[in-house]
Amino acid sequence: ADIAAKLDAVIRRVPNFPKPGVLFYDITSILADPESFRLVIDAMDQRYQKDDFDAVAAIEARGFVFAAPFAVHRGLPLILIRKAGKLPGETISQKISLEYGEDELHVHLTDVPENGRVLLVDDLIATGGTLSGAASLIRKAGGEVSDLFGVVGLPFLNYSDKLQDLEITTLVDYL
Ligand code: IMP
Repeated sequence: ADIAAKLDAVIRRVPNFPKPGVLFYDITSILADPESFRLVIDAMDQRYQKDDFDAVAAIEARGFVFAAPFAVHRGLPLILIRKAGKLPGETISQKISLEYGEDELHVHLTDVPENGRVLLVDDLIATGGTLSGAASLIRKAGGEVSDLFGVVGLPFLNYSDKLQDLEITTLVDYL
């Protein structure tokens, strides 16, 4: 059957997390079900079959989980985008504005292929602030970003406004 329906059936909803009034979509229930986890990785593989990426970049922390098996399967380098203070080598950084305050994303400068085409992966796209900042970061480091992937999308938060000119793929959307 339909991938979106299958994933919808396993994604856990947690009301009032991380704060009152927020409905949190918890993807750990996908990881706990090997069939669903495989469904996601297979769907990524299908979606990007014709795409010729030079690297996959993943956002800390849940983006790592989906990007890693895909990268191994496709034989692509995996780049970790992390919060400040985590990467030991020389990094490039980018401030990002979140719903509540600011944060900073870092990447190892030497990990990003010069003019290479990079696929950006996270678990969920809400306002698009995180992926927009991550795309700027990769560009600052000399790479090119063409495609963004999220397992879950929340299009009512209008993430496409922040992510213009980028090809966005999500597997299940909540309205
Ligand atoms: P954005 O920057 O507003 O698009 O928020 C996306 C980031 O926040 C991603 O890194 C997600 O992991 C995290 N996030 C926001 N809402 C949720 C949720 O409901 N479930 C899981 N992660 C979320």
